[in-house]
Amino acid sequence: MILDNGAEVIIGLEVHVELATRTKLFCACPSAFGAPPNTAVCPVCLGLPGALPQLNREVVRLAARAGLALGCEVRLTSRFDRKNYFYPDLPKGYQITQYEHPICEWGALEVPLADDAVRRVAIRRIHIEEEAGKLIHEGDSLWGATGSLVDLNRAGLPLIEIVTEPDLRSPEEARRFLRELVSVLSYLDVSDLRMEEGSIRCDANLSLKPPGFSGALEDLARVEVKNVNSIRNVVAALESEVKRQRAVLDAGGRVERETRGFDEGTGTTLPQRSKEAANDYRYFPEPDLPVLMLDPSVVEAERERLPVLPPALRAELVGRGLTSKEAAVIASDPGASRYLARVLAEGADTRLAVTWMLGDLARLLNEAHVGYGASPVGPAALAELLQLMAQGTLSGRLAKEVLDRMFATGHSAAAIVEDTGMAQISDQDVLATEVDRALAQHPAAVADYRAGKAAALGFLVGQVMKATRGQASPDVVNRLLRERLAALAPSS
Ligand SMILES: [Zn+2]
Repeated sequence: MILDNGAEVIIGLEVHVELATRTKLFCACPSAFGAPPNTAVCPVCLGLPGALPQLNREVVRLAARAGLALGCEVRLTSRFDRKNYFYPDLPKGYQITQYEHPICEWGALEVPLADDAVRRVAIRRIHIEEEAGKLIHEGDSLWGATGSLVDLNRAGLPLIEIVTEPDLRSPEEARRFLRELVSVLSYLDVSDLRMEEGSIRCDANLSLKPPGFSGALEDLARVEVKNVNSIRNVVAALESEVKRQRAVLDAGGRVERETRGFDEGTGTTLPQRSKEAANDYRYFPEPDLPVLMLDPSVVEAERERLPVLPPALRAELVGRGLTSKEAAVIASDPGASRYLARVLAEGADTRLAVTWMLGDLARLLNEAHVGYGASPVGPAALAELLQLMAQGTLSGRLAKEVLDRMFATGHSAAAIVEDTGMAQISDQDVLATEVDRALAQHPAAVADYRAGKAAALGFLVGQVMKATRGQASPDVVNRLLRERLAALAPSS
């Protein structure tokens, strides 16, 4: 994104993802969401003197899994460090994180942009760290709060932080990156990915690169917006930063390197503190934890367990004849892609299956606020419905009605056809009677057709469909009508 004053937008992201483990990173406290405040705590996560951390093995496995899925190198030797700072939600006075030797480095995510373009975003590192507690501010937001409460249930939950290079060029690209990242992670079962519960959060940094600037990107004044909790808010925060920094530059000012917060109420960013440098945190190796050594076989086993991920899945679906848009929609959702795979395994036609999944079934699922995985019409049931259409038992119109009933009742398509008599009428004799009746009742349409007005045929088909309450086979009706009309003496 190049602004009309020639400045280029440069964006990097740090995405914090809470890992879905049963217990915290360094203690046995449960990680469940929603417990009463300060009940899921122990001496370790409260930072009491003498309490020692013990690393949760599952966290290491999940972090390596995420790294492998993002094409990173998983380091067989990594290390934990203390990041020292004071804040009321951090009882130890430091956070245990990985600074110099993170568990994963140098991966990339290929982000689909508009018009089938792709932005390759380098992942600089993924490190493991612990979550802080939660501050609850009395008042609408941090700014102007009258008091704050501390809940340490979240203190010590396991996180990975995924750090990108500044490879994104617009708030829209940031949105697409985050959607793709969430979609890849959703195939891995590493996190609940519930944004509203804080299991994924983002720090976004943005600089404007003036035209003709030839220095290193790190030399630009970077503004970091901390702790944004939804993709929509990340985009809003970045858009607001583009405007703000642009205005500062236009007024002849200088953008300061600083940390800002996003205020959802106003949709703008507000200053929090001037940007600290790494030195301010006095990082040093965590003395209470040994160096983390991984056996290569553990990493290889995890690599072999990786599922097919959205980029490969999209390519496979396009190869099966889906449009790139259809493939993107299905691949973005593991529930949808598993559903489709099972419908196809039942022998359904790909085109038909996708059309119905993304059309009528998607509409019903949306209305009921459920995903494909919880659909009352399962993959085998949908395949059966499509089969009844392919056999000519149901027309498309009848099939829609049958699907609605299947969704509402959980009954099979065959049972509904049997109970309601909704099957399509293909019987030649029955339909011939209806066709003759329509021809006799609408001489004007017959005359129009014979005078060359092809649309009159559609009208006559419609009359037969109406008379049979939509159950006539349109193919048979069409054929019978054409035969009857052609047999009439040519019009003069
Ligand atoms: Zn604990």
